[in-house]
Amino acid sequence: MKLLSPGERQKSKRSSRRCERNRNRSKRREIYCPIHLCYLDSVSKKYYLYADRVEQLRQRGYGKLNAQLSIKSRTTILLENEWLEEFWCIECQKTEWYHVQKHGRIYHLSVASRELWQQATGVSPAYGNPSVGEFTRRQAQKLKIR
Ligand SMILES: [Zn+2]
Repeated sequence: MKLLSPGERQKSKRSSRRCERNRNRSKRREIYCPIHLCYLDSVSKKYYLYADRVEQLRQRGYGKLNAQLSIKSRTTILLENEWLEEFWCIECQKTEWYHVQKHGRIYHLSVASRELWQQATGVSPAYGNPSVGEFTRRQAQKLKIR
C-alpha cells in the first residue's frame, strides 16, 4: 500500500469534495428566465399536462393515425415532457407560472396561459380558475418575507 504525503492527501480530499460539488451542480436543471436568462428557482411542484384531443398530439409530432389511436384507446395521454411550474426570478423580483417543455436536456419556457390549467393534472378547481393570480400573489408575498 502506498502512503500519501500530507500534501497529496490534502489534494485527494479536495478533489473528492470538488466532485461532490459538481454532482450537485449538474443536478440543477438548466431553466432560465426567458427575459433575463438567469437561473430560476422552482417554488412549486410540477403539474403535468395531458392531451385529450387529437390536435394536441399532432402539435407534438404524433402521426395522424397514432394520435387518433392513442386518444381512442386511452382518452387522455399524459405528456411526460410538459408541465406547469412556478418559478422565482431574482431579476424579475416575482414569481411566474411557466409552461415548461423539455426537449432532451433543453427546457423551453413560456408563460402559462389560463387554458393550459385545464390540461393540468392534480390541480384543484381553485387553481384552474382566475384565482391563479391570487395564488401567485400570495406566494410572492411569502417569498418577500423570507
Ligand atoms: Zn426574470
